[in-house]
Amino acid sequence: MTFEYAPAPESRSIVSINPKNKLFIGGEFIDAKSGEYFQTTNPATEEVLAEISLASAKDVDAAVVAARKAFKSWSKLSGSQRAKYIYRIARIIQERSRELAVLETLDNGKPIRESRDVDVPLVAAHFFHYAGWADKLEYAGVGPNPRPLGVVGQVIPWNFPLLMLAWKIAPALAAGNTVVLKPAETTSLSALLFAEICQQAQLPAGVVNIVTGAGETGKALVNHPDINKVAFTGSTEVGRQIAKAVAGTNKKLTLELGGKAANIVFEDAPLDQTVEGIVDGIFFNQGHVCCAGSRLLVQESIHDDLMSLLYPRLELLRVGDPMDKNTDVGAINSAEQLKKIHELANSGDEQGAVRWTSSCPLPGTGFWFAPTVFTNVSQSHRIATEEIFGPVLSVLTFRTPDEAIDKANNTPYGLSAGIWSDKGSRILEVAAKLRAGVIWANTFNKFDPTSPFGGYKESGYGREGGRQGLEAYLEAGVAHE
Ligand code: NAD
Repeated sequence: MTFEYAPAPESRSIVSINPKNKLFIGGEFIDAKSGEYFQTTNPATEEVLAEISLASAKDVDAAVVAARKAFKSWSKLSGSQRAKYIYRIARIIQERSRELAVLETLDNGKPIRESRDVDVPLVAAHFFHYAGWADKLEYAGVGPNPRPLGVVGQVIPWNFPLLMLAWKIAPALAAGNTVVLKPAETTSLSALLFAEICQQAQLPAGVVNIVTGAGETGKALVNHPDINKVAFTGSTEVGRQIAKAVAGTNKKLTLELGGKAANIVFEDAPLDQTVEGIVDGIFFNQGHVCCAGSRLLVQESIHDDLMSLLYPRLELLRVGDPMDKNTDVGAINSAEQLKKIHELANSGDEQGAVRWTSSCPLPGTGFWFAPTVFTNVSQSHRIATEEIFGPVLSVLTFRTPDEAIDKANNTPYGLSAGIWSDKGSRILEVAAKLRAGVIWANTFNKFDPTSPFGGYKESGYGREGGRQGLEAYLEAGVAHE
């Protein structure tokens, strides 16, 4: 028996979208010197939502000048005074959470259930957490008398637009830095609403500046001679270019890049719970998650049992209108990303893996990809080595714990991993041998502002979150004026 769900759409009228958006520099919304605009669309409908200013190198320079000016006074405020502003921002985020969630879902394509229950609450939690740190920086672990670095250039991706903004801006401000942030070109709107929140919180002018644009704008920011640190989250490919651009300068750098996480299931794992963890691991946020459990490593003895539970569960996932409160899997963020997912999934077919696709109906307009699983995957397949960044799971098997560890570590990435087992001793032993920054046991994709997040190898360097996330924005002793 199947249950039909009546549509339960969230109201769109809670948010008003500015048809033509300016840059946020020096505490004000100003026209870009370039005079150029680009469009941002709703990936679920392909409707144009708004025009966004394309910031040129001159605009980026104006933002850095504003941030430098603001740094002089912001860095001199006492920690508790800075905290006052950051707490205020956190509270306004809570007050305007529904508006933020709706805007994020419209611009990104993620289900409203996730933006409302995961993204926005975590965004507020990060600001609350770092507000609490602002007057306790001497305990951050960088040595005595910690000082902010100066002006920070921050570039973020489109998969968690607001959350990545929070991960970057909250610790930077708590530590006394000022920032110029560039959101991804397909998801600028929530960053611009955040700029309004900064105004509402009466944050001093120039402490936060938002410049919108694509790769060239990001490049201008990274290469600007008057920034002291670059914080980048995005693809390994762009991360490499940024590492080269920053090499030989005095700029500090943290890179949060891609991943190809192993989610390892041992034969003693509780299978029903594991199935839920697998679903969360790869189908949350359409699989647009850097730490997604995209490689499922299953002990051979339970492979068939697990798959016979997994497929019917995946058939229950509702794919469609992201604004519907019943939707589990929303739209792929852009035509370009959809093309990448198709290309990699097709390589799975060509290299001999066996494809299973959910029979869910897909909407006629917009960008969609049905939940997909590949079995018969071998370690050399592209779908086992490259980040797909979509709702596609690659399943491999193993016989012994050592084989599981070897296979899990057989990747250029090292961002996250999952272990499913009834035995605590096995979890601890395996976790100690995995080269991954974050390891979840009997759960997956859990985030908390108090815990550090970051990678090994080609997943980048530096940590965000927790005390460690502050270290990236502080140094002992000397401040740049
Ligand atoms: P991307 O690298 O294409 O773009 C990221 C950002 O960099 C965008 O704002 C883009 O405009 C900008 N950019 C592009 N070229 C640039 C350049 N030459 N110089 C400076 N900036 C430039 O990545 P994406 O497609 O937006 O995001 C997906 C990637 O992000 C995935 O690989 C994912 O794993 C990764 N990611 C990592 C984390 C993490 O914490 N490790 C979190 C989220 C996403």
